[in-house]
This record gives sequence, structure tokens and C-alpha cells, in this order.
Amino acid sequence: MESTSSIKDLYKYLEFNSDKKITLIPTMGNLHKGHLKLIEKAPANTIKIVSIYINKLQFNNSNDYDCYPKTINSDIAKCQVHNVDMVFMPDESFAKSLNEYKDIHLPKFMNCLCGETRDGHFIGVYKIIRNLFDMIKPNYACFGLKDFQQLLLVKFVASKYFPNLDIIEVKTIRNKEKIALSSRLNRLDKKSLVRAESIFFSLKSIRQKIIDGADFNTVKEEEIQKLESKSISVEYLEHRMNSSLDVAKGDISNSSLFIACYINNVRLIDNIQI
Ligand code: AMP
Repeated sequence: MESTSSIKDLYKYLEFNSDKKITLIPTMGNLHKGHLKLIEKAPANTIKIVSIYINKLQFNNSNDYDCYPKTINSDIAKCQVHNVDMVFMPDESFAKSLNEYKDIHLPKFMNCLCGETRDGHFIGVYKIIRNLFDMIKPNYACFGLKDFQQLLLVKFVASKYFPNLDIIEVKTIRNKEKIALSSRLNRLDKKSLVRAESIFFSLKSIRQKIIDGADFNTVKEEEIQKLESKSISVEYLEHRMNSSLDVAKGDISNSSLFIACYINNVRLIDNIQI
């Protein structure tokens, strides 16, 4: 396995391997089983390139950025065990190259959920994704359904600028308590982690009640109260259609529940398909 923080070296590596197909797995590091599942989903006979870069542009909260866990040595070791071919871990100077994209118009569905509550977040995501795709020109790229709205943005960018790129969607990996794995969980103490178990159970309970015919808005208020009684502060809890992110109505078979919440100032997101 090779690793580099130099863009020049990355280009050399790409040139040397120009006859091979590439799968890109973009991450912010602090790799967990969710990331490793993405790596496992890379099609056989492709070169696996994992990028590790904590993209400041997508953080709307400087404390969140400063506290983001950094574990580069163990990340590299995990990549090695998972037969990754190249780890690209640019330093902060990479940010300069991200700002070359001007006049960015995100689709309407980026204005809700995290797009509404995290100012500038998806512009930051757009810049890093488009830049990595431009540089590496992968044939495949793997993304997690946990970041559902991000996945829609990635698909939008791919369809607009990279028509030959296949986006591989990977289902959310959870721990045995059903908490969606996230690098931010490392910032929770034991008690807070127990509280985080309520997030998925709450989504599951709402899903069942909706399937049984209950009105989402009524159920939502009840569940928010329950979560808040456990000191989980709900940023949003919404029921939206999968492809448009419009508020769910009519045939809801292709819809999902989306939640963002805070436990001890740590922001977590999750979603489940109805
Ligand atoms: P991050 O390092 O948080 O930016 O995530 C990098 C990629 O891993 C994104 O495509 C995420 O959607 C994906 N990912 C993060 N957590 C999980 C998880 N628990 N299950 C599946 N994919 C995940």
C-alpha cells in the first residue's frame, strides 16, 4: 500500500496506474466499520484509493472542526489490512484548490434538513467531492447512506460532470446497540452513548406508527418530547421522499425518516427507510 499527502505524488501514482480502474472512497478519517464497509464494497480488480481529509469548508462550527478526531496512524493501518492501494491524505494547503469552483448552484433539495441547519456545509461537500473526482477521475466511488442528503448531492455532481462514474451506495453500519457508527461517537462518554441508543429506536417507533396509519406530525412531537427528556436535543426530525427530499405525502413507500440531534454538544444524524 502507498500513502501520500502530496498532490504531485498522487498524480504520478495515477499516471503509473492509468491502465487500471479506480474506486475512490472519500473520508474524513478516524475510520470505523462503516468506512471499512465502503472499502469492502469497491469492485474487485479496481485500485482502491481512500482519501482522508478533514474538510474545514464543510464545518459550520469551528469547535466541531477543532474537536474532530484525528487518528491517522491507525487509519493507515486499517487501510493496509483492508487491501487499500493508496491513501491520499492532503494537508490543509489542499483547501486552496477547493476554492476554484465558483457560481455553485446546488439543487433545491439541498436547502432542507442539514442544508437548512448547517450554513455552507453542502457547498463545502460539493467542493471537496468535485475536486477529488476531477483529480482522481475514479470509475467508482463509495458513499454511505447514513449521510443520505450528501449521497444525493454526490449523485447530482456525478450525473452533471462525471457521467461514467458509478456511485456505490452502502447501507448504514450500526453497532450492536443500533447506533449508526460515526467518528463523532468517540467524543461521547459511556452515559451519552447509552442515550444515543434512543435515536434509532425512536426512528423505528415512528416508522411503525406511520405504517399503522398515524399522523407523522403528531407522532413526531411525542418522540421529540421523549428524546428531549433524555437530554437529546433534536435539531430536526422529518419525513421526506427519498429522491426529491420533498415532505412525504401520498405513496410513502420511497420515503425516509431523517433526524439530526445533539448529545452533549455532539451532533449526530441518522435516517431509516419507511
Ligand atoms: P466521513 O468520514 O464521516 O466523512 O464519512 C466518509 C464516508 O463514510 C461517507 O460516505 C459516509 O456516508 C460513510 N459512512 C460514515 N459512517 C457510516 C456508517 N455508519 N455506515 C456506512 N457508511 C458510513
